[in-house]
Amino acid sequence: MIASVRRAAAVCVLAACTAAPSSCGAQRAPHIPARPAPSASAAPSRPPTLAPGPAGLTPVFSHGPRTRGRVVALTFDADMTAGQGPRAAAGEHFDNPGLIAALRALKVPATVFMTGRWAEQYPDQARAIARDPLFEVANHSYSHYAFTGDCYGLPTVPEERMRADVERAYTAFRKAGVRDALPYFRFPGGCHDRRSLRALSGLKVTAVQWDVVGGDAFATDADAVARQVLDGVRPGSVVVLHCTRSAAPVTERAVRAVVPELRARGYRFVKVSALIGAANGRPTLEK
Ligand SMILES: [Zn+2]
Repeated sequence: MIASVRRAAAVCVLAACTAAPSSCGAQRAPHIPARPAPSASAAPSRPPTLAPGPAGLTPVFSHGPRTRGRVVALTFDADMTAGQGPRAAAGEHFDNPGLIAALRALKVPATVFMTGRWAEQYPDQARAIARDPLFEVANHSYSHYAFTGDCYGLPTVPEERMRADVERAYTAFRKAGVRDALPYFRFPGGCHDRRSLRALSGLKVTAVQWDVVGGDAFATDADAVARQVLDGVRPGSVVVLHCTRSAAPVTERAVRAVVPELRARGYRFVKVSALIGAANGRPTLEK
């Protein structure tokens, strides 16, 4: 179990910080335009999404435009897997309030991909993150089970349960007081295929991957994580990190090193929604 968990975490198992909205599931999704906004003037208050892929499949976003300036989105997966409740009860910390406090102190906008299970465990933190305009919350599934057959040893969500698992996360968000969770979904471990993209197509979410792996899962060397991020970031990058103390204990320290260095290089931090909006032609400079 430990080995499989560690393997999974190496990529994104920790990525549980998806924010789920009451917005994404059955409620908000029908109001999201099926097509990307063609210009900055189109419905700026609605979160931008990508148009469906071929055959109506859930679209996948990995990074923003490379030619729209030095912007970068830090994303934090708030991982907690269904079944980890006893470990939390025994004292294991799946949250990371120090990391969130550091982002606030540094004034770094960020997107938190939260699992529904995490929101259930830490409703006060989930709500506080969602209410802070510095952050946005997106969906990282309820269970943090895999949406493909082979994904770092994670248990698998049956195809007929995939949509319900994502919707259950949005429900958990609402119960925690998280409103306006975004219609963005990050697959646990990033694992997806045509079948899972089809299974979620009715939700009208945009699947959000990344182009820079922070490598903070189970890392013990904050400097190494910081170097990996700094080496990987390009204009428009999406960086995946984690918001889970027990499995990503050096993330806060790495972020404290990365942020001033990227700013010194001329980068500005934005949320994923800004990058998706930029991909649709919107300016990324809007707040
Ligand atoms: Zn994850």
